[in-house]
Amino acid sequence: MKILKFGGTSVARPERLEKLAGIVGAARAKGPVVVVISALGGVTDQLIGALQSAACGEPPVGLARELRRRHLEDPSGRLEGAERKRLQAEIDPWLRELERLLDGVALLGEVPDGVRHRVLATGERLSVPRVVSWLRSHGLDAQGVDGTSLLRVRDDGAEPEVDVRRTRQQVLEALSGLYDGKILVVTGFLGADEKGRTVTLGRGASDLSATVLAAALDADGVEIWTDTDGVFTADPRYVAEAQPLRRLNYGETAALARYGAKVLHPRTLAPVARNRIPVSIRSTFQPALPGTVITEVEEPREASALAVSRVAVSRFELGSASGVGVSSRALAAVERLGVELFTARHSSCRLSLTLRADEADSLEWELKREMRDAPVSIHRLDDLSAVAVVPARMAAASLLGELPKALDRLGIPVDDLYLDSREDSQVAVAVIEAKHADRATLFLHEALVRASAARNAA
Ligand code: ADP
Ligand code: ASP
Ligand code: MG
Repeated sequence: MKILKFGGTSVARPERLEKLAGIVGAARAKGPVVVVISALGGVTDQLIGALQSAACGEPPVGLARELRRRHLEDPSGRLEGAERKRLQAEIDPWLRELERLLDGVALLGEVPDGVRHRVLATGERLSVPRVVSWLRSHGLDAQGVDGTSLLRVRDDGAEPEVDVRRTRQQVLEALSGLYDGKILVVTGFLGADEKGRTVTLGRGASDLSATVLAAALDADGVEIWTDTDGVFTADPRYVAEAQPLRRLNYGETAALARYGAKVLHPRTLAPVARNRIPVSIRSTFQPALPGTVITEVEEPREASALAVSRVAVSRFELGSASGVGVSSRALAAVERLGVELFTARHSSCRLSLTLRADEADSLEWELKREMRDAPVSIHRLDDLSAVAVVPARMAAASLLGELPKALDRLGIPVDDLYLDSREDSQVAVAVIEAKHADRATLFLHEALVRASAARNAA
């Protein structure tokens, strides 16, 4: 069994769906496959924008019509009459629900959590029937499945957490009834809580849906089909000299994803690393290219620096005259939310916490709630970036020395420097002002990654 996940750009245009059908057909010819699909590129952003305008009393005009047009787009007439009708019949109820939800938000003037999840889920719920129709038009026997019937989540923290044991039970029950040689096409990004309510798993989390399903099904492998030929030495969109890395291990890749390499959602690898299920990252646009294979194998490496990534971070400084109890209460709030700290530094009566900027709003809220009856000052700093250099095995300590020297050559002040050391990975990280992050990434890629690759090639 293989799990194939296709991201937003891979399903956005009809010509890409042609490639997708070719890739899925070839995989199906070799064995059973489950396909996981994201919303069409840009649709989740549109839905977030729609919620914001609805909350201000102005639900967007014509959104449902525009989404309907995009999802029925078929310039070459591939979908025959009956298939096209079936597709319309599947997407129209979701579009009507979307309009009703947005009208409700406009009436209320606020966005209840459950409504936000359902509005955002519409992207994947529209995208799956479109892919199913495309596969059928290629003679492939496909059937859509809503992720809420498979993934069970707990939604009591900053990011909903998948309950792996319950998910496994549900997947086995649901799929034993469904799977009879069909290609199952599952909405990524979605799960349900214990009451069956739709919960979205966080931006970019269709990758996570794929690996959770792989773990639940003991799959032989996961293929993440996207718009780049694998994981690169830096984000190829911004660093023209970035090169694809052909083999990585789980720890190295998870570190890159944790520090902002958007090619994988930060939590993607945990479910498969436990079971040693290999993951490959491939380009839907150029399926003949080899991509990157991620396994547990420790690669013998020549280069000392493998890759650079960066992520926006925020810092909270907490202080109190006595200092008593601040740390334990703040860390309890962090624990409750399930957010991941990059650093937690204590001094006599201060505590400083650094984390991804996209998790800072929820932590701020939780800290204020936790400290509401305590004489504690909470100061938040934004506009910071963590630039991370992922070393080849055990070279992290020497990189930690080189990192500030390289930034110093550029005249970029280093606000903080640390080694993020985990069981399976080590990363050298510098925290700098966000306005320097582009320059720093380009330079570190050149000075550390390319230079170390060139030294070894010489
Ligand atoms: P999808 O819609 O398929 O999920 P994403 O946009 O989420 O695709 O992720 C792919 C993007 O990740 C690439 O277009 C690239 O700009 C970005 N990216 C960031 N860092 C890296 C990296 N180190 N290697 C490859 N891609 C990266
Ligand atoms: N559609 C969702 C998002 O844009 C999930 C995903 O693409 O993985 O965040
Ligand atoms: Mg993605």
